[in-house]
Amino acid sequence: MARVSATLPTIDIPNDIKPVDGRFGSGPSLVRPDAVAALAEAAPTFLGTSHRQATVQFMVGALRNGLAELLRLPDGYDVVLGNGGTTSFWDAATFGLIEHRSQHLSFGEFSSKFASGVAAAPFLDDPVVIASEPGTHPATSADADVDLYALTHNETSTGVMMPLERPTGVAADDGLVAVDATSGAGGLRFDAAQTDVYYFAPQKALAADGGLWLAACSPAAIERIERIAASDRWVPASLDLKIALDNSRKDQTYNTPALATVFLAAHQVDWINDNGGLEWAASRCDRSAEIIYGWAERSPVATPFVADPAMRSHTVATIDLDDSVDALTVSGVLRQNGIVDTESYRKLGRNQLRIALFPAIEPSDVEALCACIDHVIEHLA
Ligand SMILES: *Cc1c(COP(=O)(O)O)cnc(C)c1O
Repeated sequence: MARVSATLPTIDIPNDIKPVDGRFGSGPSLVRPDAVAALAEAAPTFLGTSHRQATVQFMVGALRNGLAELLRLPDGYDVVLGNGGTTSFWDAATFGLIEHRSQHLSFGEFSSKFASGVAAAPFLDDPVVIASEPGTHPATSADADVDLYALTHNETSTGVMMPLERPTGVAADDGLVAVDATSGAGGLRFDAAQTDVYYFAPQKALAADGGLWLAACSPAAIERIERIAASDRWVPASLDLKIALDNSRKDQTYNTPALATVFLAAHQVDWINDNGGLEWAASRCDRSAEIIYGWAERSPVATPFVADPAMRSHTVATIDLDDSVDALTVSGVLRQNGIVDTESYRKLGRNQLRIALFPAIEPSDVEALCACIDHVIEHLA
């Protein structure tokens, strides 16, 4: 359905209606200029120094402790980190968290990728995949054969969020709940006690840069990691969660991390905690969601893609445009005006805009973006 626009019309958006910051991408996403300035200031004694010395270890420790506070982790939960982003964490989880069989809720590009990676692992039983149409999410189904339930807090490709709850009647010892929260962590409310592994990379909801994975692990998850590590399953060292756990407890990573990413993530977590924590950040996202979906519902040419308001993501909004307006043209004109990354997820193939509503993005800028989209549509007509 999405059409390719050969040439873009020239439409100048007046400066006084533009957002202060024009970055609305769903990842890598807006990094706050204050965080970048703080990094520049810290750089002479931080960047280019050993990651096994106190300065960097202190920052890793601040990130781990700050996340425990932000995510309101119950006692006994531990924040583990390693290199390679969420995609590497899927591989690490395939090796070191799934005992025999996993169940996956598949409702978009990212959730389906973890499932297909697991399906290819020769040492695991075939995963149970519960899929639903793009724009919706499926529900877990308690299954005695399953020892890990793979959920996604926010499906970035479609703009669907889901509540996090243990499958009915399933205790952590019977089935771990592992949640990909890459585009949700720090922006969506949840109860950590309903999860055993809440994992993410920090370049989306957390407004840092890529290359790292972070995972809040419950005592049951840690027990699983230790049990599989003690078994005779072969695991490559860089994907070994026991090695990652042991290093994390020393505020280190197994191999060299991107120090700038560690710094920016710690800075963002502090910023949220200092302002009131997860409730404050989630309220900002609620406000942005109210603005963008409200605008779409009032617009004669726009409609929220996700039909059920409860499933509409408060961190990534997907907005369909009707056939009279080409979404790629709208995104292209916005881009020419310095407002970037509003294109929809390619593979979804819809005439759609996708707009990040992460905590670092000012709700007033989301409001300004709506005015800019209206301006572009008006001048295309
Ligand atoms: C972006 C994204 C990923 C992939 O993250 P990488 O750090 O690039 O590996 C995985 N899951 C979700 C939900 C995402 O949004």
